[in-house]
Amino acid sequence: MKTEQTIHKWVHKNPILQDIIDLRPTTWINPYKKSAENIPNYPIQLHDIIEASKLWDRFAPFFRVAFPETKSTNGILESPLKRIPKMQALLSANAIPIHGNLYLKCDNALPIAGSIKARGGFFEVLQYAEKLARNTKLLTTDLNYSIFYTDTFREFFSQYKIGVGSTGNLGLSIGIISAKLGFQVKVYMSGDAKEWKKDLLRLHGVQVIEFSGDFSIAIQEGRKETNADPKAYFVDDEDSEALYLGYTIGALRLAKQLEEQHIVIDEYNPLFVYLPCGVGGSPGGTSYGLKKIYGDNVHCFFVEPTHSPAVLTGLITGKMSEISVQDIGIDNITEADGLAVGRASKFATEISRHVISGIYTIEDDVLFRLLTQLMDSENQFLEPSATPGLIGPQRIANTDYAKKHNIDMNKVTHIAWATGGDLVPQMQRKYFYNKGKELL
Ligand SMILES: *Cc1c(COP(=O)(O)O)cnc(C)c1O
Repeated sequence: MKTEQTIHKWVHKNPILQDIIDLRPTTWINPYKKSAENIPNYPIQLHDIIEASKLWDRFAPFFRVAFPETKSTNGILESPLKRIPKMQALLSANAIPIHGNLYLKCDNALPIAGSIKARGGFFEVLQYAEKLARNTKLLTTDLNYSIFYTDTFREFFSQYKIGVGSTGNLGLSIGIISAKLGFQVKVYMSGDAKEWKKDLLRLHGVQVIEFSGDFSIAIQEGRKETNADPKAYFVDDEDSEALYLGYTIGALRLAKQLEEQHIVIDEYNPLFVYLPCGVGGSPGGTSYGLKKIYGDNVHCFFVEPTHSPAVLTGLITGKMSEISVQDIGIDNITEADGLAVGRASKFATEISRHVISGIYTIEDDVLFRLLTQLMDSENQFLEPSATPGLIGPQRIANTDYAKKHNIDMNKVTHIAWATGGDLVPQMQRKYFYNKGKELL
């Protein structure tokens, strides 16, 4: 906890910080956002994203053999983009109406991992595996990557270890893909990680190290132990460029889907995207990629639980990843395990500062209500962490954002990014659904 005096100084400069400390749902419009042409030259450009996306094409033959559920898509992992008119109507009833069209980007349905972590987490592990294989000449560029799923390769990778700290989904994705490639994997799980996620990992042969404390404890320990071992590689959720690059590719994929569905994005038909945010890596990478494609015609908003506003706290105080929510007296306790982090990613947040349009916070009860409403209206299940983008259009309509930017809200394509859910067991689904029902 920072001293009263320091906090008081910050609140004086940014009165909205008091609402955040008091756990009130808040909508913050980012004063540091730059127009697309003035965004600093970060190490990642559009051509880097396109180049990076080719890694997925190289590994498609591996996925086809290692994960037969990806055969029907030829080893390519992607999720649908769906219009959700019934949910749009349900949300609009007796409330602020949602103008424009509301879509769901269903990353809950990404194969194998059942969450957006299949984009960043898988990407980082595959990139590392490819590098190791190339260094030893096991791999020449013209080989078909199905050889990654052979005993020779698995034996080779078994000398190496991969470590990751996680509240759940990142550990799941890294654990499953690494174990499949033959790596020894250790997942350092925070106290809020769900039991079923740990059980599933053990089933895949992953070593799960449990902590009673929150994410920062788990990641600290994991980093220390992994980095002490010369044959081990740590996927560092608080500062990873590779993870981030993996997420940017999601923007390319989305742009292709919008085109296929004849949805025009231009100056008169802007795109609003609402992204659930933990450390800020997945929403940050996605937003950055979208900016590189659509420039000022895309408007990206993050959403964090009122009890875990890590990126919001970092941006408002200017302390970025050097401050935690606990430093301003917030407990980081939320049912949204995918978002239960108290400190922002360093790499991602420096960039997001100039890219995103704003951040809003949401109470846990609303997550459950949205989960139930989406089931009732669209018969679509999401985990609680994946639902908060759905109220984005209404939260932003409640500000002067559209007026300031001269936007006709009737022309907006809204996308709520649904970040996870397909791996959640039936029992848990029922429990979440009933909880939302009680709250409605
Ligand atoms: C990880 C995760 C997020 C947030 O991603 P960050 O990179 O931590 O910001 C959102 N939703 C779900 C379901 C997640 O698992």
